[in-house]
Formats: sequence, structure tokens, C-alpha cells
Amino acid sequence: MTHQPRESFKSPRFAQPATFMRLPHVTDPHGLDVAIVGVPFDGGTSYRPGARMGPREIRAQSSLIRSYNHFQKVAPFDRLNVADVGDIDAPPVSIEKCYDAVEAGIGAIAGAGARPLVVGGDHSISLPVLRALARRHGPLAVVQFDAHIDTWDEYFGGKYFHGTPFRRAIEEGIVDGKRFIQVGIRGPMYGESDFDFHREHGITMIDVDQVKDRGIAALVEDIRRVAAGPAYVTFDIDAVDPAFAPGTGTPEVGGLTSHEAQRLVRGLGGLKLVGADVVEVSPLYDGPGQITSVLAANLLFELLCAMAV
Ligand code: MN
Ligand code: MN
Repeated sequence: MTHQPRESFKSPRFAQPATFMRLPHVTDPHGLDVAIVGVPFDGGTSYRPGARMGPREIRAQSSLIRSYNHFQKVAPFDRLNVADVGDIDAPPVSIEKCYDAVEAGIGAIAGAGARPLVVGGDHSISLPVLRALARRHGPLAVVQFDAHIDTWDEYFGGKYFHGTPFRRAIEEGIVDGKRFIQVGIRGPMYGESDFDFHREHGITMIDVDQVKDRGIAALVEDIRRVAAGPAYVTFDIDAVDPAFAPGTGTPEVGGLTSHEAQRLVRGLGGLKLVGADVVEVSPLYDGPGQITSVLAANLLFELLCAMAV
């Protein structure tokens, strides 16, 4: 393949401007199989801000990741031409303007025949990514790892924020509710009526107790059964317990471990993945050692490997 991470025996891992896993930075997505792209936007957050700083820090913390995945038995850079195309310049002053920029930016990547691997940003940015990808692939299956359902209706009268992207996506017909599965849901809700939309649209919701009680292998089977056809994976880092991932905007206790998160993503290999994202990393609230960004970088690597399997 044309593009490979910089060789760590020739250039130390901590040297040179940070790109994802020390891949080349290219501006033209033509010829790529997968494009790593940042969306530094957090204008859709409802509580602690800072996810706009996610892409930079996750790139910095990705420097240590080696390129062979023993668990998925894949060397992604030998199978796929992957590069870091930098960030989409999402205007910070307007969520609608951000959505236009993201839809155009992802549309250009998909139009060049590359699959986007998106680094957020808050979860509101998944909606314009899905718009661009559905235009090319038709209605998508979605696998959502999250503490929160993100299918609420509105917030302060606004239709767009990080709690509504998947309701909007289903309303717009770009995500198929019957091929939509949420994993890791927990935390106090507004009421049982929060799940009315799930019942109406046939959404599969796996709460964190089910994950822990049934085990990873059974859950991976559920995911693979539901997410048939062209599929998008969205990983909200708050699916993971704040003990492992404190650097996020709306933390919920009692979540996945880092290892459970890795194993769940490893189970996605062979799905028809048209794109994926990792969102909601807020480095401003991270713990010592930048542990949340280290985890996010590794989950992006696991997603890339799942795309390569
Ligand atoms: Mn979310
Ligand atoms: Mn969340």
C-alpha cells in the first residue's frame, strides 16, 4: 500500500507533527480506502464542553499504537490504503453551518470512494456524517455504543444537539430503525416514555446490565444479526465507565471497561462497514496520562481493523 505509518526505528514515536498513528497527512481522498478525518466541534453539547479538542489530543495519543492487530489477526495498512486527511473546518458559531460543512466534507470523502473514520467532536456530528453516507449507500444500519439513547426530541426548542442525532436520522429516513442497535445504555432517564420512540421504530436497546449479564460473545451475535447490510458504527466514549474514560462531557457511572469496549469493537469485523466514528472525548476533563484519549485512539484502531477484516 502507498501509505504506511512512519517507521518507529527511523523516526521516534514522539517526533513530527501528530497525525493519526503517524500516517501521512494527505488532502486529496482519491485513492484512499479509509480516510481518518477530525471534526473538532462541540457546539452540540449540553453539559461539560471540550470535545472540540478531541481530534488533536487523540492524534497525539495514537503515536504508540503498533500496526498489527493480534486479536483480529489483521495488519490494516497492508490491506487498506489509509491516510489522515486532517479536520473538517466546522464553523463553531452555528450547528446548522457545522452540519453543512461536515456533510460536504464527508460527501467528498465518500465520493472519492474512501470510507470515513471520523474523530469527534460531540455526538451531534454523527447526523451530517450519516446524511452524506446515506446519500451514497441508502438507509444505513447503525451500531451505537453509548451511555445515552440520543433519540430525544429536542432541547431548549432546538432540534439539533448531541441528544437527538439518531432520532433525526430515523425521521429523515437515513437510518433504518429495525437495523439500529444501541449498546451500553444506562443512567437515570426522564421516564419510561423515553423509549416510546424505540418501540415505534423497532430499535434494539441493550442496556449495560444486559451487556454484563449476557456477556460479550452473545452480544456480538445480537449486533451482527441486527446490523445487516451497509452499516455505520458510532462509539460515544461515555459508553465506557468514567473510571476508564473520565474525559467526556456527560459521564455516567457503571459502564463498560476499556477491555469490554475493545472486545465489542473487535466483534464487528466482517460487517459491511461504510464508516465509523469515535466521539465525545473532552481532553479538558481527562485524567492523568490522558487515559481517555489513549482509549479513543485504540478504539479507532480496532474500528480500522474491523474495516480491514
Ligand atoms: Mn452520545
Ligand atoms: Mn453519551
